[in-house]
Amino acid sequence: MTTGQRLQALAMTCPSCGQLLVPPLAGSTLTIAWYACPCGNFWSARVRDGRPVVPALALPPRPPSG
Ligand SMILES: [Zn+2]
Repeated sequence: MTTGQRLQALAMTCPSCGQLLVPPLAGSTLTIAWYACPCGNFWSARVRDGRPVVPALALPPRPPSG
């Protein structure tokens, strides 16, 4: 399996809007992956055992109310 194929396996759900299978951006590695969702959300995830793990602190802040 190539690195590119392994990166494609890291596609994950957007934590903001729920968009499925957002692919990792170019520049992602098998240690940390970066994502940009069409909704505008941008986040990173650590890669553990070949799966992306999103730290709670990486989740976007709540939108301002009012
Ligand atoms: Zn999204």
